[in-house]
Amino acid sequence: MDQPSHISVILDLSPSQWHLSSLPQNPYPLSLKSFLAQVLAFLNLHIASKHENTLAIFGAFPGKSVMLYSSTDPASDSSDSGSPNIYRPFEIVDSRVVTRIEEELESIDDSQEEAPIGLVGALTKALCYINRIKHPTPSTQSNGTTVEDPATLPDPRILILSVSPDLSTSYIPIMNSIFSAQKLKIIIDVCKIYGPDTVFLEQAAHLTGGSYVYLERRDALLQHLVMSHLPSPALRKLMAVPTQDKIDFRAACFCHKNIVDVGFVCSVCLSIFCRPVAVCTTCRTKFPMSTLRRLDAYLPRAAKQANGTAKTSAPPTPTATGLPSTPR
Ligand SMILES: [Zn+2]
Ligand SMILES: [Zn+2]
Repeated sequence: MDQPSHISVILDLSPSQWHLSSLPQNPYPLSLKSFLAQVLAFLNLHIASKHENTLAIFGAFPGKSVMLYSSTDPASDSSDSGSPNIYRPFEIVDSRVVTRIEEELESIDDSQEEAPIGLVGALTKALCYINRIKHPTPSTQSNGTTVEDPATLPDPRILILSVSPDLSTSYIPIMNSIFSAQKLKIIIDVCKIYGPDTVFLEQAAHLTGGSYVYLERRDALLQHLVMSHLPSPALRKLMAVPTQDKIDFRAACFCHKNIVDVGFVCSVCLSIFCRPVAVCTTCRTKFPMSTLRRLDAYLPRAAKQANGTAKTSAPPTPTATGLPSTPR
């Protein structure tokens, strides 16, 4: 409980979503500028609460993702003369993050349609970064200290601040990231600030033991961040942190990347399809015609049933139980 903690924050910086979020017809309009001011105050609190706490900030921009800041990066200690009235680490984080975001947003070409948000890239970078700090190699210890005792390594978590809707093409990479996070024992917390609930991030939080919260009162962003995300996960077990009990477990089909209520699962590789297929496109297994006919007959009824099922329940997934004719 007394351990230092690491937090990797992923900021969703889609210009179009932030524009929509700042419109005055929203119940609680929130602009990117005000969002950044509150997030930076939260991150400063994280650094201030324990000297050994570490921090990394990743930005998801349209079509790309970048690391905006990391406290273990030697470049972050560069000493350009700052204001004597501000605690130096706060100043470094604030100025670096704001400058990098401005540079990236200015480089976006306005003439084209906005590319899909690079959330998966940012998530993958955060996982790689945490993997590196969790497994320090002797060569990274430039100051001559011995390899760190695993007990003193920070307790890592990822916080995603999301404003973009789900991108169904990213279902498989997000699932793979979730499995990596589970293996590394990393908790993924999600705070949904604007837009519809995202099914995949709900699942990411649920499967890694994190919390997913849809922020209703966006004027209370900083308060929410401090109350729910500042305490380390170990401490959070002792507190009544707001969470969401409804989780949408639906998956996206591998063929069209649509989110499906009823899917057909390959009995060999567990790929999900929205309708019965003769040959699995992932593992090339062929299914007998009799199985396909049986499942085809099931399809319209299944689609009708699916419309009536509750959103929260796990979908019934009729499995292609027929034995594959040519298993590889
Ligand atoms: Zn499909
Ligand atoms: Zn298959």
